[in-house]
Amino acid sequence: MPARVLDGTAVANQIRSELAPAVASFTARTGRPPGLGIVLVGDDPASEIYVRGKVKSAGETGLRADVERLPATASLDQLLGVVDRLNRSDVHDGILVQSPLPEAMGADAERRVFDALDPAKDVDGFHPVNVGYLVQNRAALVASTPSGVIELLERSHVTIAGARAAVLGRSDIVGKPMALLLLHRHATVTICHSRTSNLRAVAREADILVAAIGRPAFVTAEFVKPGAAVVDVGITAIRDRQAVERIYPAGSRRRETFERRGSLTVGDVHPEVAEVAGALSPVPGGVGPLTVVMLLKNTLTAANQRAGG
Ligand code: NAP
Repeated sequence: MPARVLDGTAVANQIRSELAPAVASFTARTGRPPGLGIVLVGDDPASEIYVRGKVKSAGETGLRADVERLPATASLDQLLGVVDRLNRSDVHDGILVQSPLPEAMGADAERRVFDALDPAKDVDGFHPVNVGYLVQNRAALVASTPSGVIELLERSHVTIAGARAAVLGRSDIVGKPMALLLLHRHATVTICHSRTSNLRAVAREADILVAAIGRPAFVTAEFVKPGAAVVDVGITAIRDRQAVERIYPAGSRRRETFERRGSLTVGDVHPEVAEVAGALSPVPGGVGPLTVVMLLKNTLTAANQRAGG
């Protein structure tokens, strides 16, 4: 029997409908909407799409979102100047600096930007102070992708407490916070990475498997315990026809989408996993919509904290 679909779009809509009245009540109380400042450096097409989606979703939910643009040639000092201005802005409760930053800014640019954010406005939850709060299980602002995964699991009635969980990927923005959030909900968590030996066998122990490695269709049926809940965080745009043909059978809808668009967004989980897993989040329509809505939720949280309520 094919896996139950963990429908990220439906869960995101549900959270958005809960957020809208809370945003309206903040606006009525303070005379201004919660505000998000988004900094976009350069002209990466994927980043443009992500930022457009965030601005649209913010507007639909009653938040204010302003985009500050810098050219790809901007210096790190210029970027830190914009962050400093947003840190001091009265109307911006949250600040998001869209990744990736241009390589010319240097390998440690993202870290320096996160360090420069006012932790109270750090709606991505990447500042070391917020990471510390997360480790101690008392965080208010937690990275939006992993907290979106938790919402998806909980609202889809997947039991976390007591489950064995495996997180594939150990990045600061997805893998590590994901593992901590599962741990705080009483899962027994294993974090896997590129040096994990016998990854398949480790993954196959898991009742909850979260894949966040950025390797299209890497997680095949052999990685999955029958009946497990599998969450696919990966997003990779594939333009190589042969790669698409290796993953999706002729005549499938995904192949048709590729023919129409010339590229396909593919997760880390192979479609054959649907025959083994008990529940599976799709790509697209899984974790992606939740990442956006959790960012809005964090902005409202930051706004309420700044307004003292
Ligand atoms: P990242 O910083 O590149 O980290 C990738 C992690 O995967 C690393 O820990 C790496 O291990 C591990 N890894 C890579 N290849 C592996 C392999 N063959 N076997 C085992 N582990 C492997 O990526 P990220 O920022 O965490 O993002 C991961 C994926 O999630 C990407 O596809 C990204 O686009 C997607 N993403 C989606 C959303 C969303 O809204 N849905 C949000 C954020 C990210 P090492 O540490 O050993 O190198």
